[in-house]
Amino acid sequence: MTKVTLSGRPPEQDVPGAPAPIDPATGMHRDYWVLSEEDRAKGFIRPVRFKYVHKSCGAVTRMAPILAETYARDPTFYGATVCVGCKKQLPVAELLWVGTQDEAGSCGGRTDLVFQ
Ligand SMILES: [Zn+2]
Repeated sequence: MTKVTLSGRPPEQDVPGAPAPIDPATGMHRDYWVLSEEDRAKGFIRPVRFKYVHKSCGAVTRMAPILAETYARDPTFYGATVCVGCKKQLPVAELLWVGTQDEAGSCGGRTDLVFQ
């Protein structure tokens, strides 16, 4: 699979796991790795979900559509993501998809969804 930057710009860095540093004002990286359009077009192995809730603080964060599609294609693509309430990067196991008990990054126990 091919990763590209969300912005389309060349990466500024690739450590730890993002192509640009964290903006201290938001806790978000200034740019993110995503799967290429070609890879995302191969199909998703879990639903495309846009909103997750941080179990500890209850804040709901909305993902950009391309990040949500990347996650749906490869639930292990991101090991950490931001909480807009805490304004910091958190392990995905601390986040649940809104309206579910599925941890972000988990496969939700489904085995019927497979890569094409
Ligand atoms: Zn939080």
